[in-house]
Amino acid sequence: MSGIGRQAIVIGASMGGLLAARALADFYDTVTVLERDHFPVTDEPRKGVPQGRHAHGLLARGREVIEDFFPGWTDEVVADGGVRGDIAGDVRWFGHGVALKTAPSDLLGVLASRPVLEGQVRRRLLKLPNVRAIAGCAVQGLVGSEDRSTILGVRVKVENGAEQMMPADLVVDASGRGSASPAWLEMLGYARPEEEKIEIGIGYTTRLYRRKPADLGGKVAIVVAGSGPNWRNGVILYHSEDRWIVSIGGYLGDHAPDDAQMFSAYAGSLPTREIYDIVAHAEPLGDFVSYRYPANLRRRYERLAQFPKNYLVFGDAVCSFNPVYGQGMTVAAEEAVLLQRALREGTSDLARRFFGLASVAVDTPWDIAVGNDLRHPQVVGARPAKVRFINWYIGKLHQAARYDAQLATAFLRVANLKAPPPSLLYPAIAARVIWGNLRPRGAKEAAQPSAQVS
Ligand SMILES: Cc1cc2nc3c(=O)[nH]c(=O)nc-3n(C[C@H](O)[C@H](O)[C@H](O)COP(=O)(O)OP(=O)(O)OC[C@H]3O[C@@H](n4cnc5c(N)ncnc54)[C@H](O)[C@@H]3O)c2cc1C
Repeated sequence: MSGIGRQAIVIGASMGGLLAARALADFYDTVTVLERDHFPVTDEPRKGVPQGRHAHGLLARGREVIEDFFPGWTDEVVADGGVRGDIAGDVRWFGHGVALKTAPSDLLGVLASRPVLEGQVRRRLLKLPNVRAIAGCAVQGLVGSEDRSTILGVRVKVENGAEQMMPADLVVDASGRGSASPAWLEMLGYARPEEEKIEIGIGYTTRLYRRKPADLGGKVAIVVAGSGPNWRNGVILYHSEDRWIVSIGGYLGDHAPDDAQMFSAYAGSLPTREIYDIVAHAEPLGDFVSYRYPANLRRRYERLAQFPKNYLVFGDAVCSFNPVYGQGMTVAAEEAVLLQRALREGTSDLARRFFGLASVAVDTPWDIAVGNDLRHPQVVGARPAKVRFINWYIGKLHQAARYDAQLATAFLRVANLKAPPPSLLYPAIAARVIWGNLRPRGAKEAAQPSAQVS
């Protein structure tokens, strides 16, 4: 279905921009994606997506949406060196200081390097006859109508060429967390969106290691979410058939060092030995890379009273989350679904309708990320009774889910944005949480030996 408009422009060709473009391709005659970087010839990290050097896991909901948009995409990622996995069965999850029981589930995931995930989406997108991308093209600003009520296009600069105007019926800003939209709107006489920020001062250090199939007892990933008193976190993910990617770090300056011995020691301080075992014994491949992530950041575009016509903001440019929860790509995918839902009703009042839908979709991952970050006593932010209760309850759920695969999967369905958080309060689940915390410790341990904890 096209014909809602002739030309749509998307700023940024990372996961957000690519998925926005896929959504728009069903509605606009032509979709043009403008990207400042050049696309790598092979799937390598690039300058505009520095996080591409760090571990990236795609949640079950994100994979499902991308597969719907591009049927056969999961197979293509696997053919390109990725691996399928059962998110509850093939991954070990640590949270609240304990390991969740692993068991087969219907939560299907795919693991590959971030550049492969993005490259496979980009290649499929650019096969669509009405989509094109212009690389090496930096958007400098917006072009507004004389009365500033409508966006008519963008000002771009391709390489060293002169600035030129590109007209569009719709412009979508998917230029990431550093988006200039607040400033561009201000220049046109609009208010900037309110910003919500929860400072966490996360610092990650990452290194690749040689992978052997027998490593980690055949599991494809380990995910450790920090939990008091040890707030350090880390992941080890399948990167390619012969590589692991290890990213570890901590809050508020407690960052993992980029020195082999100290990195090993830091890995050894995590509440499970598996990451340490790889770091200490596997062959390192390449140098350490570090990333500083200051704060969860949400821009409340849905609260603006005035907004120009024919303009939207998308993906990390709207909300960026503590990466440890692995939500960003999946939220962008969900927003692409919602963009299509909004466009099915035409373009009238599009921004208000899209931002309204997107803000509801962002609420859950925002509450998950920020709610958990606020368990850290030094993270500054309001902790209303609801947040304190949820964190207490999720802690109890984890205790019970050490031995209860049904509870573990119920939690992972929520963490993978496949089920709403209130599903964890359903009577059948709540009863298992209570029972799991009441049973005598000896009985629990007879049910399953506890995880190896250093
Ligand atoms: C360390 C780290 C780890 C992460 N791990 C995960 C994970 O495990 N799972 C997950 O789902 N998410 C993860 N994320 C988040 C994820 O990377 C993003 O949510 C995802 O890339 C979607 O972001 P985006 O496309 O909106 O913006 P970005 O990825 O920031 O991309 C913005 C794009 O816009 C381009 N651009 C910027 N300005 C301009 C301009 N003026 N003109 C033209 N182009 C421009 C940039 O070059 C870039 O290509 C992680 C993030 C970080 C920082």
